[in-house]
Amino acid sequence: MRLFTAGLITETNTFAPWPTGRRGFSEIGPFRGDATTRGRDDETGVLAGVWKELARRDGHEFVEGFFAHAQPSGPTLQSLYEEYRDEMLAPLKEQRPFDVALFFLHGAMVSAGCDDCEGDILGRARAILGPKARIGALLDPHCHLTPQMIGAADAIVLFKEYPHVDYPERGRELYAILTGAAVGRCRPVTRLFDCRMVGFYPTTKEPMAGLVRRMKEAERRPGVLSVSFGHGFPWGDTPETGSKVLVIADDDAGLAASVAAEIGHGIYDERETLLPRYPDIAGALARAQAHAGIVVLADTADNSGGGAPSDNVSLLRAMLQSGVKRAAYGSIWDPVTVRICAEAGVGATLPLRLGGKCGVASGDPMDVVATVKAFVADHSQQDLGPGRCPMGDSVWLQIGDIDVVVMSVRTQTLSPDAFTGLGIDLSSRRMIAVKSSWHFQANFAPIADELIPVATPGALQMDFAAIDYRKKRDQRFFPRVADPLGRGGGR
Ligand SMILES: [Zn+2]
Repeated sequence: MRLFTAGLITETNTFAPWPTGRRGFSEIGPFRGDATTRGRDDETGVLAGVWKELARRDGHEFVEGFFAHAQPSGPTLQSLYEEYRDEMLAPLKEQRPFDVALFFLHGAMVSAGCDDCEGDILGRARAILGPKARIGALLDPHCHLTPQMIGAADAIVLFKEYPHVDYPERGRELYAILTGAAVGRCRPVTRLFDCRMVGFYPTTKEPMAGLVRRMKEAERRPGVLSVSFGHGFPWGDTPETGSKVLVIADDDAGLAASVAAEIGHGIYDERETLLPRYPDIAGALARAQAHAGIVVLADTADNSGGGAPSDNVSLLRAMLQSGVKRAAYGSIWDPVTVRICAEAGVGATLPLRLGGKCGVASGDPMDVVATVKAFVADHSQQDLGPGRCPMGDSVWLQIGDIDVVVMSVRTQTLSPDAFTGLGIDLSSRRMIAVKSSWHFQANFAPIADELIPVATPGALQMDFAAIDYRKKRDQRFFPRVADPLGRGGGR
């Protein structure tokens, strides 16, 4: 059997003011047949490595194609999207035949001229390979599941966990379904259930943790091949934006539809409980200061993982104003500040205008006097899997009694080594504030006595009813409407 793999990954915040371009995709890759070697620290390389190892085990020919990955921003430039898409798909023509094509895509990529890049990619792959090849995609649950994607692919599998710690495992499941289908062992049939919701669904707490267990239980039933929940990405305005359940059954559309409806209704019936309700900055700081142990606060609205700039300093300003002691804060994206501090040198104390540079969502900058405690060239942090995530040249600043990390490659704060890699001793800190919506929990929970997501100002506001959707087809969704499916409950 001949297998092809490739990937193009970014999550588009259609409300973000600046586009995703070549520089965004060049912070990590792109990888041209070398994701499993040169890119093995990136999640694209980790996943391509999983697929390569499975293919080797099973004695299949493996062609490793183009992989590229960009931090979320606004829509990708159309010419760049087309260039990368065409480069990614070219081997399907030039090196055919292929029995199976495995894609690692995000599912919420929007370009200037296309609201559904993944549907476009999968549709073109199908047109090249024809009906006999098995085509599938592994997607992030923060995706917009579209009829174009479902129609073009034989199988689509999503990560189940948020934080996304399970992507290698889900990649293995997709491989098993597609290679099984290629030898006639199964015939995947997919059905979607639209929950008519927009929301935010961390899986490390109830009721979502229990709903993930229900999905896994459903997968053990005869004939059910895969159950996924597409959380949707609230800050991507496309016709298909929203939360949907996707079920693949073996040659049984009725079974796929009934399991999708069952799981979808289970999620829908918990919709009120699932709405995020976080304390504001004052409330969160009061809670944190009253706590005896190590508290990790999350600056949820300024998470670059959702397309925010990561340079809003509102939470840091409030921490300084309330006189918090033994605290750490990171990571602010401010390459200008990093440059100035690198020039001044370690040990220098100087005035800085920190953050607040990119747009309205950045808020106001803050004028501080800071001491440069350390500089690390090409700093990086542990990713959610076994890989690492680049932060570029970075500095440790001391401002009052707060150790602050400033980076020059934009990324959310995923791991304690974003701090400790610069020399900051987190064990002596009582309060650690990170720019992340939820992914930080995977690596910070082990060192924290308490985790507090904070309703901060910034790009990613959780008032989903108020998001100004122009393209989204279904405007009568929860929480804008209490009970759009008419099942009772709700407010
Ligand atoms: Zn995601």
